[in-house]
Amino acid sequence: MDGVLDQNGRPLRDLRISVTDRCNMRCDYCMPAEIFDSKHQFMHRNELLTFEEINLVVESLIPVGLKKIRLTGGEPLLRRDLENLIQMLSKHSVEIAMTTNGLLFAGRGDSLRKSGLNRVTFSLDSLDPQVFERITNTSGQKIESILRSIDEAIECGLGQVRINSVIRRGINELDIDRLVDQFEHLPVSLRFIEFMDVGNHNRWRHNDVVPSSEIQNHLKKRMTLIPIDSTYRGEVAQRWKVEGKNGFEIGFISSVSQPFCGDCTRARISSDGHLFTCLFASTGTDLKSILREQSNENNLQDVISEIWKQRDDRYSELRSKTKKPGTIILPKIEMSYIGG
Ligand code: SAM
Ligand code: SF4
Ligand code: SF4
Repeated sequence: MDGVLDQNGRPLRDLRISVTDRCNMRCDYCMPAEIFDSKHQFMHRNELLTFEEINLVVESLIPVGLKKIRLTGGEPLLRRDLENLIQMLSKHSVEIAMTTNGLLFAGRGDSLRKSGLNRVTFSLDSLDPQVFERITNTSGQKIESILRSIDEAIECGLGQVRINSVIRRGINELDIDRLVDQFEHLPVSLRFIEFMDVGNHNRWRHNDVVPSSEIQNHLKKRMTLIPIDSTYRGEVAQRWKVEGKNGFEIGFISSVSQPFCGDCTRARISSDGHLFTCLFASTGTDLKSILREQSNENNLQDVISEIWKQRDDRYSELRSKTKKPGTIILPKIEMSYIGG
């Protein structure tokens, strides 16, 4: 039974929860330093959903069909006592994953896993200190500690660890090989993500996108890739095993060149409690007001189910049909706010 279906027959299976809009990096394609500077107004603590409120949202979605939660941000590990939230959420029968830049992960793998975290994804766009610094506005010396954190996550049994990398034309194409060299001996999934036109400040141009097919063709010159069938509806990555490399896997998330809206089962909640039914939505529904209203007139499950039933989002598919990609809906929500 699929639970509630949207206008295109898609169930609500996944929920991405942004637990903070703050970050300890300033990636140029996500939170460029000149925009997210010392004058930028981040959310006040009382604007954020509390752990109890997040838990109520998740609880209300279980009967709707929710199977998987991803904690994200901003940088989720900046949210104080994140383990407490994970422990609360682990009482529900859902998989709990987290996406992190890895800067604050060291020494926390065990406590995160014991709290109930099932999987972790690290974002790492470059292994070259200068390129890393140019992209993230963060010292290239941090690469070593991120790599140690990845080892720690593997050792403490946090599922199959994933490494996400956004490859952009003229910025970090050399990292395709560097990342494969670095990780091919480890039981990890290395996933190349196409640069998306999300947010308003990353100066996205179609020409900057390195299509997955190009990376695949490049890699096929050095290794034999064996396709892996998708295991569930809504799986966004096309995955490949690599001959002779046990446990290592390469994935492609081709949101621009091969949009997967038809199978998109994801909802998102911003850290101030707005529900979005698409990464490219320009408005969301304020769940925090519903959660905090005294009268309890609105039942959260009914409200979200109703929104989901009306959902007909398919931005990426529409983008691929327009002549001027990236210009169809403006302004958009920032990735750090809505949760990547
Ligand atoms: N700070 C955490 C991190 O970097 O892993 C979690 C939040 S971040 C917004 C989640 C993911 O979104 C990262 O892997 C990042 O590379 C990706 N991302 C951000 N902006 C993007 C864009 N314009 N296109 C593709 N991926 C993007
Ligand atoms: Fe921060 Fe992640 Fe965005 Fe980079 S991609 S600025 S680490 S939220
Ligand atoms: Fe889902 Fe919207 Fe992305 Fe399409 S564009 S895959 S509907 S989030």
